[in-house]
Amino acid sequence: MEKKHIQFFENLVGVENVYSDKAHLLAYSYDATRVTYEPDLVIFPRDEKDVQNILKYCNDFGIILTPRGAGSGFTGGALPANGGVVLAFEKHMNKILEIDMQNMVAVVEPGVINMDLQKAVSEKGLFYPPDPASQDYSSIGGNVAENAGGMRAAKYGITKDYVMALRAVLPSGEVIQAGKKTIKDVAGYNVAGILIASEGTLGVITQITLKLITKPKLKKTAMGVFSTVEEAMNAVYKTMASGVTPVAMEFLDNLTIKAVEQKFNKGLPTDAGAILITDVDGNLEEDIETQLLTIKKVFSENGSTFFKIAKDENESNELWFARRNASQSISIYGSKKLNEDITVPRSKLPQLLEKIEKISKKYSVNTPCFGHTGDGNVHTNVMVDGKNEDELKRGYEAIEEIFKATVELGGTLSGEHGIGLSKAPYMKLAFSEAELNLFKAIKKAFDPNNILNPFKMGI
Ligand SMILES: Cc1cc2nc3c(=O)[nH]c(=O)nc-3n(C[C@H](O)[C@H](O)[C@H](O)COP(=O)(O)OP(=O)(O)OC[C@H]3O[C@@H](n4cnc5c(N)ncnc54)[C@H](O)[C@@H]3O)c2cc1C
Repeated sequence: MEKKHIQFFENLVGVENVYSDKAHLLAYSYDATRVTYEPDLVIFPRDEKDVQNILKYCNDFGIILTPRGAGSGFTGGALPANGGVVLAFEKHMNKILEIDMQNMVAVVEPGVINMDLQKAVSEKGLFYPPDPASQDYSSIGGNVAENAGGMRAAKYGITKDYVMALRAVLPSGEVIQAGKKTIKDVAGYNVAGILIASEGTLGVITQITLKLITKPKLKKTAMGVFSTVEEAMNAVYKTMASGVTPVAMEFLDNLTIKAVEQKFNKGLPTDAGAILITDVDGNLEEDIETQLLTIKKVFSENGSTFFKIAKDENESNELWFARRNASQSISIYGSKKLNEDITVPRSKLPQLLEKIEKISKKYSVNTPCFGHTGDGNVHTNVMVDGKNEDELKRGYEAIEEIFKATVELGGTLSGEHGIGLSKAPYMKLAFSEAELNLFKAIKKAFDPNNILNPFKMGI
């Protein structure tokens, strides 16, 4: 980057808030995809005014800018694939500005860590449900820009269900306020809805207003074991349609169960086709018992061979152990994990899992699956030897076929990780030319000079 540009930014925000040395550029060159692209500069804005000035300057000089939260994204959204500036919020723009008890709303800056917000509102007796597994380090800005989901999504929804308003800076340097603290707001286009999951391609989010709810007092965990994955998937969608809404309804297939057992020796049923782990919550013991009885009944009607309710928190943690350790355990099947987060309408889960099995056989790859089946979201992990070119090729072919099958079943390429760079080539499988052209027109309206995180999301 030209010296004059670096000097401008240093004068604007202070030398201490601009990194241009090799070590720091390297530190900001990655996310969870393990692909790296070095930026030319990392800037830590102190406030929204800085964001405005930085964006306007970049826009005037055609400098590419990529917003970055905690860099925990799985699809390369925060990677500066074309160099330029990385704009990071963790140093200054990381404050909880307000917890408004009367309106049950929190107002935060983008760099606030998800778990810090959860703790802060919980101390006041309130609840912010979205809990991505990365909740200890991912930022609310990144959560909004990816529309993150979590274990509680089956009952409580995902990030978008809690965003009431966003302030954002456009590449021109102008600030927009999308939405209000009001429950209802039907005036004008739903611009906040467009910014959510826009992966930093339309505007830089500088302030987020989030809905809070009250936290249920009681929670219980149960587990069901099934002989086949089909029976388990039937049990999932039938439970969700039975009038009970579990907080979580997570699943592990046979390959995943075997992997966890091989690593941790927990006495898991390695001959089972699938395990379902579920949490229910409420304020009354009777309510919890009724929910568990209904789930037990639906599980049993759909072939469960074993059902256990955790007596206490220790037992609950034991039941959750396999799910929490699924991701690391499946490395026994290959050094490289091609992990996708496809999602289908819940009633299509049995067909989806059947298709994945057939595709895996066709390409001779192992595809352990686990995940948030309560919301139709399956983590599909095609495991290959990363050093074996032929196996890698087969792995990617299997992925493409799995995406096609997902779309045919009325599903989507991503339930929570977004498109970024890694899924960009597959956008054509899921969207028509007219839809992709509309995306491009929206991008142009926000960012006519294409300086904001360009070429992400296949746009
Ligand atoms: C172990 C692990 C578990 C995970 N589990 C889950 C899970 O359960 N559910 C889930 O949904 N995801 C999960 N993820 C993925 C990831 O944590 C989420 O996508 C998260 O929302 C990213 O937040 P971040 O702060 O790390 O954002 P980053 O990765 O830094 O950025 C993500 C995107 O947001 C944009 N962005 C960041 N800040 C702003 C801003 N202020 N304005 C505009 N754009 C911005 C970036 O440009 C980028 O496109 C997991 C990741 C890991 C590593």
